[in-house]
Amino acid sequence: MPKKEEGVLVHEGADQPDVLTIIVPCYNEEPVLLQSAACLAEQLQKMVEAGLVAQQSKVLFVDDGSTDQTWPIITNLAARSGSFGGMKLSRNVGHQNALLAGLSAVQEGPCISIDADLQDSVAAMSAMVEHYRDGCQVVYGVRQDRSADTLFKRTTARLFYRFMTIMGVETIEDHADYRLLGPEARKAVLSFTEENLYLRGIVPLVGFRTASVYYTRTPRLGGESKYTLFRMVTLALRGVTSFSVVPLRMIALLGVSVFLLGLVSILWSVVDKLFFQPAIGWASLNAMICLIGGLQMLALGIVGEYIGCIYTEVKRRPRFFIEQTT
Ligand code: UDP
Ligand code: MG
Repeated sequence: MPKKEEGVLVHEGADQPDVLTIIVPCYNEEPVLLQSAACLAEQLQKMVEAGLVAQQSKVLFVDDGSTDQTWPIITNLAARSGSFGGMKLSRNVGHQNALLAGLSAVQEGPCISIDADLQDSVAAMSAMVEHYRDGCQVVYGVRQDRSADTLFKRTTARLFYRFMTIMGVETIEDHADYRLLGPEARKAVLSFTEENLYLRGIVPLVGFRTASVYYTRTPRLGGESKYTLFRMVTLALRGVTSFSVVPLRMIALLGVSVFLLGLVSILWSVVDKLFFQPAIGWASLNAMICLIGGLQMLALGIVGEYIGCIYTEVKRRPRFFIEQTT
């Protein structure tokens, strides 16, 4: 039976703990890196002492083509302590691909991905590992309270999750990329070879036993958010086009509706001509042309978005290059 000790579950007589890798994607995180490295090392030590993870567990920083002092800081940390490792990508490939690079470098045991700014509580990791030891392959970190985020961030995030649900994409609300993956789930995630990577959509698709851990989101330790409005819209579009054909169906539905409207208006014109005084209709004609023209352009744009995805997918280009490791 596990017993409670200083708020941490200690597994008595449980089998050897596994090696844990904490994956931290970093893009120009110089202002926060030292502080977050210290917090992560402390949390790792706690888990080692509680017998949850093996002594050889590590924090793996993935430098996603930073242009500031992020990489020198990582190499310094790695030189000073065996608990830190680093991997430098040849250029900025984006958060999702940086995570993928980290996942592909893990050799054994479970891994937890967390942002470098530590807006997500590191303390939740103990509970994540406990779920893993109880047989879960996927443990989601879910933000219970995000009042620390700006109103803009909260509103756009809420709209994002709503939009995904309407589009029929299965997503875990208020879960970003803070999660534990067991070795089986990690292998399954790596077997998805898509170019337009959207891990929040892929992870629910792999199945396995899952659990969630809830925590309160805090403000960034320092620096600025790398997710601009443009990047968020890109991620949302990627999520939708990679996981749902609902927009394409909507176009078909829209087409049918406009066609029916056209039929009704023709019938009305005939009735109008026969029984009433028909008005000179250039304004209504103009409005109809604009409306239908606009709808057609919109429909073309949506179809184009999908074609664009097919275009990038078929090329099968490599998703990242590793320039250096520590
Ligand atoms: N990040 C990255 N590559 C990028 C953009 C961001 O590796 O091109 C990392 C970033 O360093 C951080 C994480 O992704 O560790 C999440 O970014 P951020 O905290 O800026 O996003 P937010 O929390 O504001 O959504
Ligand atoms: Mg953040």
